[in-house]
Amino acid sequence: MSERKPPAWTPSWPVAEGRDRDLYFYLQPTEGYAAGARARVAGAGEMLMLGSYSYLGLNGHPRITHAAHEAIERYGTGTHGVRLLAGTLDLHKALESKIASFKGTEDALVFSSGYLANVSVIACLFGRGDTIICDKLDHASIVDGCALSGADFVYFRHNDPGHLETRLKAARPSGKRVVIVDAVFSMDGDVAPLPEIVGLCRRYDGLVMTDEAHSIGVLGATGRGIEEHFGFPSDAVDIKIGTLSKAIPSVGGYVAGSRAMCDFLAHQARGFIYSGALPPPQTAAALAAFELILAEPERVKRLHANMRAFAGLLADSPLDARRGESAIFPIVCGDDWDGWKLARYCQKNGLYVQCIPHPVVPKGSARLRASVTSEHSETDLRQAVDIITRGAAELGVALRVKRPEAAE
Ligand code: PMP
Repeated sequence: MSERKPPAWTPSWPVAEGRDRDLYFYLQPTEGYAAGARARVAGAGEMLMLGSYSYLGLNGHPRITHAAHEAIERYGTGTHGVRLLAGTLDLHKALESKIASFKGTEDALVFSSGYLANVSVIACLFGRGDTIICDKLDHASIVDGCALSGADFVYFRHNDPGHLETRLKAARPSGKRVVIVDAVFSMDGDVAPLPEIVGLCRRYDGLVMTDEAHSIGVLGATGRGIEEHFGFPSDAVDIKIGTLSKAIPSVGGYVAGSRAMCDFLAHQARGFIYSGALPPPQTAAALAAFELILAEPERVKRLHANMRAFAGLLADSPLDARRGESAIFPIVCGDDWDGWKLARYCQKNGLYVQCIPHPVVPKGSARLRASVTSEHSETDLRQAVDIITRGAAELGVALRVKRPEAAE
């Protein structure tokens, strides 16, 4: 028998070279968390965390942990199957009605991840003969849902309502049309222009769908998301997707909207029908977290103050940082290797922040993706900007005016 050639599994990033050059900081095991936005990282000790989505610092909150423990005591750790058959708990129903009231909708439906919620909802609600119009920077799970749906699928230029109008005008006259945007763009941290999008969708008879992965708990005076941020009524958005794994310290995703839509999805969306239900402790944790966001409004206020403070510090620094509109702040390095080098500088100096390279972001726009939380102190934020600025100056990267030569 001839010798079998092993298949070539070549990742799109130069992972092996990154490891060899000590420039690889993905998949680092965290061993635990400490108070005040600190993480204990294997081999590195305690670090200042500037790369987590724990926007409201709720992970480990005693009420959430207690709710998760209680749920394990009562239901165990699993659900033994899918929601439609024997997998639905009263906890799932309580979480869905909590999400619906938080988002001001008739109903909500919980999925086992935000990724699954986007893919299943889009592929179920839209199909051949319909038109889906997405912002060019929409999240991968939206793109995958569109591809699976079989609908006509076009992009409009990022946050460009004029281009969106061109796309709406060119959409098929028959069939449903929907505009899908991230409420906060996960790699750029800017906010979708909801007022213009809603206005255009009313004019051209389109549905509006938002992905609130990075806006729940972040945008709006009480953290309810993008409608609250713009002072819009909750029915401005028809289909509201969110995740339970960022500001909400659990796992899972949801869709919120009309009862008719949620009923339809519960009986038609393949990612809901054919996938196991959210486990009891995670469901109870998510439910307790929504309650806490409302019960402790100072968390959102602290986060907003930190977002403003960090934006101010970056504006006063020489760093090439994008304007801050959310809790996500990209610091643009350009070349992937420059991004990895700056990430290494930060990591070696006790700051946990990571580089997002191509193809996650367009070529030549690799960036450090910093996110602030309610738990950072002013000193933390200053220290973070100082470390990044020192690294940027030493390496000659991520500066508004670039130095000619970059040192390794
Ligand atoms: N949408 C956006 C904008 C996201 O950033 C993410 C997570 N990276 C998701 C959806 C998927 O959510 P989950 O992690 O719950 O699958």
